[in-house]
Amino acid sequence: MSRIQLITFDLDDTFWDIRSTIINAEKNSRKWTEDRIGKKIKWGTFEDFMEIRSELIKEDPSLEYDLGMLRKKTIAYHTNKYFKNKNNFDDFVEEAYKFFLKERHKVTFYEGVVKVLEKLSSQYKLGVLTNGNADVNKLNIGHLFNFSISSMDVKSNKPNKHHFLRARELSQINFENTLHVGDHPVNDVLGARDLGINTMWFNLNGVEWELDDNPPIQFKQWSEFIDLMEKNYGS
Ligand SMILES: [Mg+2]
Repeated sequence: MSRIQLITFDLDDTFWDIRSTIINAEKNSRKWTEDRIGKKIKWGTFEDFMEIRSELIKEDPSLEYDLGMLRKKTIAYHTNKYFKNKNNFDDFVEEAYKFFLKERHKVTFYEGVVKVLEKLSSQYKLGVLTNGNADVNKLNIGHLFNFSISSMDVKSNKPNKHHFLRARELSQINFENTLHVGDHPVNDVLGARDLGINTMWFNLNGVEWELDDNPPIQFKQWSEFIDLMEKNYGS
């Protein structure tokens, strides 16, 4: 008998590669924006992009977990000078954001993820705990999960405890019977472990665990996941 009843998962860099996803979404959004406006826009370097984001967060700290609003404000930053009418501008920003979000959901799952989730969903409660703004219900895997919690839902980012507390509240399953799976040593592994939640670390690149002398159970490929989990937590 497994002592695990609930398995929660991170999304970005756990189910798919986020860097290539965002780069594509960004590229296509820029093209869409320029086509709409009919002008070439100076987007700046990646450092400029990050600088704009951190300035916006400084002005409004809630943007740290409200990625949707942060994205809209970034779009507005680059495009507001092309609009004279405020309503038109607001509509444009909404539309541009919608376009970005659609592109952001064009993900390529790591091999085996969906098969593993399908198998697990018949035996365990499954949940999503993400700091990002991907929505499993837009990805044809929503039906496999009992719930999904984003930073916006709890106004906080992992490794803070709020995602985990909400998961316990929604599932009514104790931390000792919960397993959290994610790629991030701090946000996922330490965040969960500090609360007494069992953890498995998705370590795609096989990097060293450097945070303490107690490396988590780890896997590199989704095809290893179920065996490894059953070996460590029973089936
Ligand atoms: Mg992640």
